[in-house]
Amino acid sequence: MTVRVRIAPSPTGNLHIGTARTAVFNWLFARHERGTFILRVEDTDEARSRPEFTQDIKDGLTWLGIPWDEGPYFQSQRLNLCKQAVKTLLDKGYAYRCYTTEEELNQLREAQKARNQAPRYDNRHRNLTPEQEQAYEAEGRKPVIRFKIDDSRKIMWHDRIRGTVTWQGSDLGGDMVIARASSRQDLGQPLYNLAVVVDDMDMNISHVIRGEDHIANTAKQILLYEALGGSIPEFAHTPLILNEAGQKLSKRDNVTAISDFYKMGFVPEAMANYMTLLGWTPPEDSTQELFTLEEAAKTFTIDRVSKSAAKFDWSKLDWINSQYIHNMDPSQLLERLIPFWEDAGYQVDLENDRAWLEQVAALIGPSLTRLTEAVEQTEVFFKDHVELNEEAIAQLQQDGVKPVIQSVYEAVKQQNQLSEEDAKQIVKNATKEHNVKKGVVMRSLRAALTGAMKGHDLMQSWLLLNQKGFDQPRLEKALN
Ligand code: GLU
Repeated sequence: MTVRVRIAPSPTGNLHIGTARTAVFNWLFARHERGTFILRVEDTDEARSRPEFTQDIKDGLTWLGIPWDEGPYFQSQRLNLCKQAVKTLLDKGYAYRCYTTEEELNQLREAQKARNQAPRYDNRHRNLTPEQEQAYEAEGRKPVIRFKIDDSRKIMWHDRIRGTVTWQGSDLGGDMVIARASSRQDLGQPLYNLAVVVDDMDMNISHVIRGEDHIANTAKQILLYEALGGSIPEFAHTPLILNEAGQKLSKRDNVTAISDFYKMGFVPEAMANYMTLLGWTPPEDSTQELFTLEEAAKTFTIDRVSKSAAKFDWSKLDWINSQYIHNMDPSQLLERLIPFWEDAGYQVDLENDRAWLEQVAALIGPSLTRLTEAVEQTEVFFKDHVELNEEAIAQLQQDGVKPVIQSVYEAVKQQNQLSEEDAKQIVKNATKEHNVKKGVVMRSLRAALTGAMKGHDLMQSWLLLNQKGFDQPRLEKALN
């Protein structure tokens, strides 16, 4: 069988973590099966769909490293297919025009509520005569198209993740609306359940892998496949992603969009790796938790996707992110850091300073968990002026410190560019000359050069500052 899968996001918001995780699973499955991964943008909700969200979805998938093989297709450009399907369903008697008004529907719901019943349409217009239809039309009512759902029908499918799923027709809310506000001439705006089936049929989708919030829709869609004579794809409903408190991950958790994770300093390899582990377990013989998507695709099968919800674990994501950052070579890390530095307003002169920038990246890399941390950690290298914190001020005010700084300053002044050996020698000389411990010299230098008492390797930091000519003025300032 040719495997064809799709991700079908609605561009009514930025690429959501849940959609992105589903996209990862679809991509892995397609790669494993040498199939095709399709991007279809479900933009039929005109009021809420926006082109910038489509762009964000495309950017997010690209950033994560899950390119689509076909598409993007836009549902809004394919509405004629849906209209044809509506016509077929009407012609075959599977669907009908329903003239019930919004007000009548509300009354129905209120009455059901008063009887403690679940809301459902009572199929009251299922068997209207042509005369009744005309009378409603004459009143100016605009019909919707409803698809007949047999209450006694049992719908069953074998879900690749959840096993056998059974739904009773009577639990589907009565005959369902498949197209809105139509008229005799125009078949109206097709709705999600119809459009998704028409498109999945037309695109020969073999497996529908999507979030478990669509399970009830699947039951309805199976009925539509049957009525339209389409072959029913296999379904796999992925588990929800919960926050650390065990609730559905939502906007209240602040980060739900993939672009938020980028802004927080996560690298795409780590995100993709972590999302793969959100619900999927690598085969038992693999203890590897770190893998590329290509590696995961080799062993990815749907039967290893869990049906229980996946908890979003920030510390695990942080750990994975740090591993990817620590394993990058300096030039790679530099490329990732540049946008964050530029956003912070730092002058990044790649043409003239590449070697220096790579050394900065190499120095801080091992201590980074997220790329964003690099902004604060490298401020000292990018700003010609450094603000001394209280501890640094106290250090520089200690007895005997100024003469030490003075010696170092004089030595630096005489030399154009320091080597590591030179720097060590200068420290040694100052220690001897003033008869102080090496620690005193080092702490004082750190205070003067970086404005703080903690930070990255002092000698390396000093050499980097020296290359920029920042050390001399800072030492001079510390003398005042
Ligand atoms: N547009 C739907 C969504 O974003 C697609 C669901 C599906 O994959 O069928 O949830």
